[in-house]
Amino acid sequence: MTGRKESQFDNPFPTIIDACQSGTMAEKMAAPLPFPRMLDVELTNVCNMRCQMCPVGCRLQTRPVGYMTIGTLHSILREAKKYRTPIRFIRWGEPLLHYGWAFAIRSVVDAGLACHLNTNGLILTDLDSFGGRNRKQLINSGLTSLKISFQGTDPNTYQLWRGKNLYAALMEALKDLRRLRGGRRTPVLQVGTTITTESELLVRTFREEVAPFAEACYVGHTVDMTATEEVPVYGQCPEVFDKLSVNWNGIITPCCSDWNEFMNLGRVPETSLKQAWNSKALRAIREDFLAGQFDRYRPCRNCPRFPRARRTP
Ligand code: SF4
Ligand code: SF4
Repeated sequence: MTGRKESQFDNPFPTIIDACQSGTMAEKMAAPLPFPRMLDVELTNVCNMRCQMCPVGCRLQTRPVGYMTIGTLHSILREAKKYRTPIRFIRWGEPLLHYGWAFAIRSVVDAGLACHLNTNGLILTDLDSFGGRNRKQLINSGLTSLKISFQGTDPNTYQLWRGKNLYAALMEALKDLRRLRGGRRTPVLQVGTTITTESELLVRTFREEVAPFAEACYVGHTVDMTATEEVPVYGQCPEVFDKLSVNWNGIITPCCSDWNEFMNLGRVPETSLKQAWNSKALRAIREDFLAGQFDRYRPCRNCPRFPRARRTP
């Protein structure tokens, strides 16, 4: 393994997320940012899970599937570099299924930007193939932070939504990642999960189980993005005022929950991120939101509007 063994960055993501979740939409409209606070980049929308609440898992996503080219990623990074905008490899699909994930992380780090990745962890659990090698590579990749996504709080609730009995293997992978990181500060290890009817006791037990191995534990509520019933709108959305997301094929959207290009703002590199950020189309979306017109946009109809995950103290 060559290159730096530890990210050169302090972890900027909690501060950015706090900034996204502060203030009202009216305040943000009155003082627009020159560029998004961070960029969510989809390396691929291919996934190795079939989660029941997810448009990818349920095959409701009808847009083409594929993998981001290095050329598209570098177009994004050229702009992000000017504003020192951190990158998160998240969105739809499993980023570690991209053939060049390690190169992608290295490209972000070499651009001088902080980098975060979310994974469902499935390919880290398989020690008969490349799971062990992937764990080492991930820890040594230069990532600033890494989140392992669980589901529920125990093997039963995990299997219910994800359809696989992998809870214990994922917990073992988390412990091994912590062991491999040793005394280094990065990648900051995080665990995320969402719950439905789990009891407070189960949640507390889960938090206690992961606490020795992860610096942060986020517990949110499962959102069934495939549901057709509308849910109440809470009134403030930081997505369209603070961030941009880019799909594997370069399509730019203002919302990380937009699974099917419903809010298409153009495509990198023909449309720059700056153009999309200042576009009439995005301004119209922001004005609709200020007027309470969330329901004009498909992803917003059953969105709990950016649930505020709680972090383990
Ligand atoms: S929730 Fe994540 S892991 Fe599950 S199917 Fe969707 S993209 Fe894949
Ligand atoms: S889906 Fe939710 S988070 Fe996304 S733009 Fe709509 S209200 Fe905001």
